[in-house]
Amino acid sequence: MATGKINVSVENIFPLIKKFLYSDHEIFLRELISNATDATLKLKHLTTIGEAKVEYGNPLIEVKIDKEGKKIHIIDQGVGMTEEEVQKYINEIAFSGAEEFLDKYKDSAKDSGIIGHFGLGFYSAFMVASKVEIITKSYKDEPAAHWTCDGSPNFTLKKAKKTTRGTEIILHVAEDSTEFLEEGKIGTLLRKYNKFMPIPIKFGTTTETLPKPEGAKEEDPAPTKEVDNIINNPNPAWTKQPTDLTDEDYKGFYRELYPMQFEEPLFHIHLNVDYPFNLTGILYFPKLTNDLNTQKDRIQLYQNQVFVTDNVEGIVPEFLTMLRGVIDSPDIPLNVSRSYLQADGAVKKISTYITRKVADKLNSLFKNNRADFEAKWNDIKIVIEYGMLSEDKFFEKADKFALYPTVDGAYYTFEELQEKLKPNQTDKDEKLVILYASNKEEQHSYIEAATAKGYEVLLLDSPIVSHLMQKLETSKEKISFARVDADHLDNLIKKEDTQISKLSDEEKEALKTDIETAINNKSYTVQLEAMDSSSSPFIITEPEFMRRMKEMQQTGGGGMFGMGNMPEM
Ligand code: ADP
Ligand code: MG
Repeated sequence: MATGKINVSVENIFPLIKKFLYSDHEIFLRELISNATDATLKLKHLTTIGEAKVEYGNPLIEVKIDKEGKKIHIIDQGVGMTEEEVQKYINEIAFSGAEEFLDKYKDSAKDSGIIGHFGLGFYSAFMVASKVEIITKSYKDEPAAHWTCDGSPNFTLKKAKKTTRGTEIILHVAEDSTEFLEEGKIGTLLRKYNKFMPIPIKFGTTTETLPKPEGAKEEDPAPTKEVDNIINNPNPAWTKQPTDLTDEDYKGFYRELYPMQFEEPLFHIHLNVDYPFNLTGILYFPKLTNDLNTQKDRIQLYQNQVFVTDNVEGIVPEFLTMLRGVIDSPDIPLNVSRSYLQADGAVKKISTYITRKVADKLNSLFKNNRADFEAKWNDIKIVIEYGMLSEDKFFEKADKFALYPTVDGAYYTFEELQEKLKPNQTDKDEKLVILYASNKEEQHSYIEAATAKGYEVLLLDSPIVSHLMQKLETSKEKISFARVDADHLDNLIKKEDTQISKLSDEEKEALKTDIETAINNKSYTVQLEAMDSSSSPFIITEPEFMRRMKEMQQTGGGGMFGMGNMPEM
């Protein structure tokens, strides 16, 4: 038996760790299961390369609650530690055995999925435990070791009787943390952080219904048996090759991620890159509704299949935070507590990559099945339009597939629209005037008047469309948008008017003056020519710029979706 002092310069580091290192006490479980996973993955690696001459088998990680004894046990069947290794890895705070392992087996272990990094995770146990024990037996032929520490820098280390390979961590739960002795609480944590970790995690047992034996009567109950309750899926879809997955697999994984989402996603994007950074994942375009779940079900960030956070701000460009799915990257630089992103050049690259992948996917959907893309447009336009406004690189790509629907249900790309409108909708200054309506019912008579003149009228009704039009007007040459009720109709080159008005010019003037007096607002104009060609006796128009200014004041500034900055216009 050995006793000694943990090698730290701060006399009592535990209260510090407890207080400052991690903001969330609950992450202790994630850290300990990560260590158990690492220990198992290390063994897998060592058996694969022939360095450990033992049977790898089908190792599990088990989490057990002993409510009476006020203890939590975390048991693995991984590499274990010799007494010497406990001295080295546990007693030296901030010495990461995970990093050392990766260093030692550099190339061969590069893709082993080892999680550890900072050499501090283990000590998060003291956030919830007043005393921690480690009982561990190495895969090497050496006696087991038993380490005990009560949260002061003093520990004891002695031999143990354990004969099976692996490590058992025993947490003596502190008085102020007894909530972690609740099965419900631990279950929730396991589902949150460990749902897709690579080694099966057992938490209690569950009853499985077996098929009825042949010849069983209708009223005979189906036989059942107790089986391990495995809380995770060790092989989630994003870790597989896209070629090995069907459309159904992707939809199934979406349901696994968001069990409370009943609406199917519109399509998915499988991310997979290993240079210059490592990143895998699957993003889904959801059908966006006003449902409150939309806010809750966000993109989840993982590191080697360990859940980190669902706040991906900074990693995913803002306009894509409306998507759902998973991003997994060991290369996203997170601080010790793993919930905050460190500002880093790699993050910018990751964000650029994701933007490009999304744009490419949309482009291929548009190219390969335009009819389907048109059918989905209404559900995806808000993301695309917002992206065009906020990311110039995205604008360049989306300009080829962004659609402009007409009131009659035709869809044009911008280029097609220009071609279509050129002959008929060019004004005196050679500018293309693009007419649009924002509400088919309200602007019904204006739409009718314009279409009667042979003009094409778009239906642009998303809340940020005035910003997008402004953007298009400044990035394209010689175009301007005008809502059907704007005073632009007059400026267009008109076709010969063949109809003869029933009113004389004087009568028209008098009527116009009467109506204007009745409206009593100088910013509106009364146009009587509509009388000739449509069912409306006259139309009242407001200058486009006035209306749009009002509208942009309403949607601009504070940002839409409560997501902060709208781009400056
Ligand atoms: P990190 O995981 O970042 O390396 P930790 O503080 O979480 O740091 O753990 C320190 C070291 O202790 C690990 O790197 C590993 O060598 C050892 N260790 C911790 N838990 C286990 C375990 N369950 N089995 C074997 N070794 C372990
Ligand atoms: Mg660790």
